[in-house]
Amino acid sequence: MTATTQAEDLVFGLTRVIDLPGLTAAGGAALGAEDIAAILGEAEKFARDLLWPHSQAADREGARLENGVVRTPESYKPAYRAWIEGGWQGLAAPAEVNGVEVGGQELPQALWMAVSEIVTSGDMSFSLCPLLSAGAIEALARFATPAQQAAWLPKLVSGEWTGTMNLTEPQAGSDLSQVRTKAEPDGTGGYRITGQKIYITWGDHDLTENTLHLILARLPDAPPGTRGISLFAAPKVLPDGRRNALRCGGLEKKMGIHASPTCVMLYEGAEAELVGEPNRGLNAMFAMMNAARLGVGVEGVAQGARALALAEAYAAERVQGGQPIARHADVARMLAEIRAITLAGRLLALEAGAALDRHRLLGDAEAEARVALLTPIVKAWCTDRGVDCASLGIQVHGGMGFVEDAGAAQVLRDARIAPIYEGTNGIQALDLVGRKLFRDGGAHMRGLLAEVKAADPRLAEAVAAMTRATDWMLERGLKDADAAQASAAAYLDAAGWTLGGWMLARAAAADARYAPLAGFYLARLLPRAASISATRAAKPKSIPCGGAKAHPVRRSRNASPATGACSVVCKSRLTLPCQSGVGNPLVNSPKLRFIATGNMCGWAFARPGRGDGPVQLGSSMAIAGRTWTVPVASAGRNCAPSGEFRPRRRAAPLPEQAAARICRRLTRPCRIDRPS
Ligand SMILES: Cc1cc2nc3c(=O)[nH]c(=O)nc-3n(C[C@H](O)[C@H](O)[C@H](O)COP(=O)(O)OP(=O)(O)OC[C@H]3O[C@@H](n4cnc5c(N)ncnc54)[C@H](O)[C@@H]3O)c2cc1C
Repeated sequence: MTATTQAEDLVFGLTRVIDLPGLTAAGGAALGAEDIAAILGEAEKFARDLLWPHSQAADREGARLENGVVRTPESYKPAYRAWIEGGWQGLAAPAEVNGVEVGGQELPQALWMAVSEIVTSGDMSFSLCPLLSAGAIEALARFATPAQQAAWLPKLVSGEWTGTMNLTEPQAGSDLSQVRTKAEPDGTGGYRITGQKIYITWGDHDLTENTLHLILARLPDAPPGTRGISLFAAPKVLPDGRRNALRCGGLEKKMGIHASPTCVMLYEGAEAELVGEPNRGLNAMFAMMNAARLGVGVEGVAQGARALALAEAYAAERVQGGQPIARHADVARMLAEIRAITLAGRLLALEAGAALDRHRLLGDAEAEARVALLTPIVKAWCTDRGVDCASLGIQVHGGMGFVEDAGAAQVLRDARIAPIYEGTNGIQALDLVGRKLFRDGGAHMRGLLAEVKAADPRLAEAVAAMTRATDWMLERGLKDADAAQASAAAYLDAAGWTLGGWMLARAAAADARYAPLAGFYLARLLPRAASISATRAAKPKSIPCGGAKAHPVRRSRNASPATGACSVVCKSRLTLPCQSGVGNPLVNSPKLRFIATGNMCGWAFARPGRGDGPVQLGSSMAIAGRTWTVPVASAGRNCAPSGEFRPRRRAAPLPEQAAARICRRLTRPCRIDRPS
């Protein structure tokens, strides 16, 4: 029996597991199994002909900023043209909004997710552009005025324009209450946006003439925190043909998705319109982010699919020990793991997509609660597993996996971003436990677990373990939030493994071809759920952190014995090629003083000589001898700072409070050892 292909699995999942034909028929717009197969067949052709053959070259070529213009790889131009001509962008977009025809096909979200998986496994960098546009369409369809919808939606739905999502700022990552970008009324009903956004995916490019930026910003006198954030839209090119006062100030150099331009966006009094109500911008953005989070979960699945395709092809050709390595039991085991995990994630994502469709098409409130519960699990579990599968894919290749030619390394580099953006996986776990579980006292989770248990007796043990973990979370969380939060990621992980088993059991019940794979998952992989969900947090503060001793590279001559933190002063004035006045004045201060945790991939804080508190410089700081290079992304400004810093004097141990504050921000919990 030959293995099923990605498209076959998707058609099977949509038709036989989540019964999309039945769901759409109930909603009054029936979509038959043949239609689904035909659409996915076309998507497969698009990815096979226009993305797969060029994706490695596109990765090598990368996105480039040349004289203020962002250039994308050459192969993206015909691919994007075909994307527009095929009408792909409008697949799940509305046909009409407020009586205005906007050109979408109104097909189900689950089908869009299946198409996205195929396109993303063809080239993840390329796929991010349509993904962001889809998010913008969703937000505008729900929150924009009819006039705004008429002006923008047809262009976005056709793909003639692209959309972006501008949330992140140097000091505002997971914590959007820190957003500082300003929006000032211009006296004519419009607004002027001033500020800087970082990490903006496809913030600028050469594939379309115009881009519509959705931006979070604060109105004058807005209340502090998340209640004072509004949503604005600013086109790159204004209706009268003038360039708006916004631009890409720099491109991040990244670990992966090299061909996706990740931009520092500078808004220098850009003309914009308010979208939705003042100070309710986060609501609108979250409406768009829920679908986007499912979309990012799909990226994890897609990377698993890409890893599998490369690994299976290599394992069939590579001969060792007198036979293709695919026939060696351990390699067969790795391939089976990638295949089973990828299929489990794929079907789980489709289940969430179907719940979204049930809610939208049939107004089913239960389905809405299910999407809410499944969204953080799909986002985090599928993306974590995408990274695992990419790593296993490299292992199957042996040494060839570690060199770039085989393409397996690119999969891991690309997959690694998905657990980070659209709300880190840690934040997803907190959302699952803190919001979704506590919101209804665990009722929906218990209902879901009952369904899982009824599907197959082999799931009983995992369900029992999940039930115990749910009880523990609900009980312990009320008394000790730290303990519950420290166990949230393990809880989400266990839920993912359990629900993945549920989906494969359903697949096996629907078609015996899937029984061996389901059997493998349930026997070999599902036990992870029980062992993970038995994990209970040791009190974070009782876990010692490595400190300077465990990581000698962290130690500098003046490292604080308390935390490994040290205080350094730049040797001389830093000359930083800032391109605008938006940059923080601190950057040019000769007294710039860094307090670094010394964490290799950790944090850096800058304080002015006589300062007003720590300023986050970024999430990575390369430490090589005494040369500390702060990468562009870290500075989060439109400059490329790089300088040499020398210790000025021996640093005094940090006061306990400051040390505790820094320790709290480390990714691992730690104990503060007082210097002896
Ligand atoms: C390639 C790329 C593309 C991106 N595209 C976009 C884009 O198009 N638009 C956009 O607006 N942004 C974009 N981002 C930004 C992305 O969404 C953020 O990086 C992400 O939200 C995390 O923010 P941060 O990097 O500041 O990390 P931080 O918020 O500083 O988090 C660092 C660590 O601390 C943890 N943490 C933070 N707060 C808490 C908490 N309260 N409790 C527990 N743990 C916590 C996090 O889980 C994480 O492990 C992109 C980023 C990258 C790298």
